Amino acid sequence: MPRKKFIEKEKKILEEERVQVLEELEHLREFMQTEVDVEPDEGDAEIFEREKNAALISVMENKLKDIEAALRSIEKGSYGICERCGQPIELERLEVKPDATLCVKCQEEVERLARRGRGSRPFNW
Ligand SMILES: [Zn+2]
Repeated sequence: MPRKKFIEKEKKILEEERVQVLEELEHLREFMQTEVDVEPDEGDAEIFEREKNAALISVMENKLKDIEAALRSIEKGSYGICERCGQPIELERLEVKPDATLCVKCQEEVERLARRGRGSRPFNW
């Protein structure tokens, strides 16, 4: 499939995903806004539910940001270009992860550096 055609397809997928994420966020936020009137012994479960929801909201917000960034880069014509090395990102990779901003090689390297960075912190006497 030509790259241009592929990106058009990706754009549609991203736009649909964006709508879904927005709907989900709205739903989650509605839940957070409802007044709670729970018995004291049910309080823990309620708090747990809310914390779970709050975590989900931030996951969804990040996802939305990624999707919107990807859509913006499609508009600008820079979609599918690795932010690190400037090479085109593999289409197979974009197919799996439409909001990818790094090519496979750079992604692996970034992850490797992150792992090494955590493991070799020098002692600070
Ligand atoms: Zn790269």
